Amino acid sequence: MKKRIAILGSTGSIGTQTLEVIRQFPDRFSVEVLTAGSQADLLIQQALEFKPNTVVIRDKEYYEEVKNALLPHYIKVFAGEESLSQIVQMDSIDVVLLALVGFLGLKPALSAIEAGKHIALANKETLVVAGELVTKLAVKKRVAILPVDSEHSAIFQCLQGENLNSVEKIFLTASGGPFRGFNKKQLSKVTSKEALNHPNWKMGHKITIDSATLMNKGLEVIEAKWLFGLEPSQIEVIVHPQSVIHSMVQFTDGSIKAQMGMPDMRIPIQYALSYPERFFSNFPRFSFAECTMLNFEQVDQENFPNLTIAYKALSAGGNMPCILNAANEIAVDAFLNNKTGFLKMSDVIEQCMELIPFISNPTFEDYLSTDHEARIKALELIN
Ligand code: MN
Repeated sequence: MKKRIAILGSTGSIGTQTLEVIRQFPDRFSVEVLTAGSQADLLIQQALEFKPNTVVIRDKEYYEEVKNALLPHYIKVFAGEESLSQIVQMDSIDVVLLALVGFLGLKPALSAIEAGKHIALANKETLVVAGELVTKLAVKKRVAILPVDSEHSAIFQCLQGENLNSVEKIFLTASGGPFRGFNKKQLSKVTSKEALNHPNWKMGHKITIDSATLMNKGLEVIEAKWLFGLEPSQIEVIVHPQSVIHSMVQFTDGSIKAQMGMPDMRIPIQYALSYPERFFSNFPRFSFAECTMLNFEQVDQENFPNLTIAYKALSAGGNMPCILNAANEIAVDAFLNNKTGFLKMSDVIEQCMELIPFISNPTFEDYLSTDHEARIKALELIN
């Protein structure tokens, strides 16, 4: 039996690497749906190779172009953001791999879970913004949320065969990003170009900036809380510059399990798709001869305040992580476009968390309005 997969965000970094994995296993996986934002050319090329049932191009400007290219091949074409939430409910889909970036992923995620589709989750912002809503619905619909994020895949792999009650805490590893060891003065001068030069991982722009500010690790702490049902005090972040240990679980007897491997996103992607099986891969293997040292450091919370800010949002709960996420998305976008400085990003996020009204038990509509308000406030603070 083939697993029939919908890839939301197929032209991004995770999406293209997912297709690399699927290409290796034509008799285990089939592509049912591909969706892209505005990269019409790549979407067309992918659709011609993988022959999905349906594609969606979010930017309506490219609809005619995509339709004209794919209709002769009997591939259905839709456009617009609303189509994403409808398409994920198609009967012929088994798994939705969610690789959209940011808040955008929330609505299609809820829609897919509502229709009983299993989720391979690369879009961490979905759990950051509305972790409680998403995980509750997944339990109700008996849907699995399989982590694609490498740290969470590591935790998930360490937990196989274990009882959740015997977990004492988890260690999320962080590379520290390109500016590890920098002080405030140095950080005040860094550019988006320097930030995009990540030492270990090849990733999309948004997550690469998040890695440089450590917000990525903050978002991952919140993601881990919801995926594994942990208390904030059970989640510790440690800097591990080689990115070989992808994360660890410490059990109640003091034993620690680590999951290791090359920093290659195709491994966690493949595991999320093959689970509960493991498939062979020919990706490069880790070499102990070439890497003779693994280092660990404490996080520099003084110069990189985002992790502390994220723990604050997690402890506050309610719509606070949603505020944090929206403000961060705006700040990162501004930094990428050279409209704000590196250090200002954290200030904008903290101020939004103080200024936007707190809601302790938000509904889906509350999340929409919180996201909207926080974005406007963040833009005001930047300009
Ligand atoms: Mn990660």
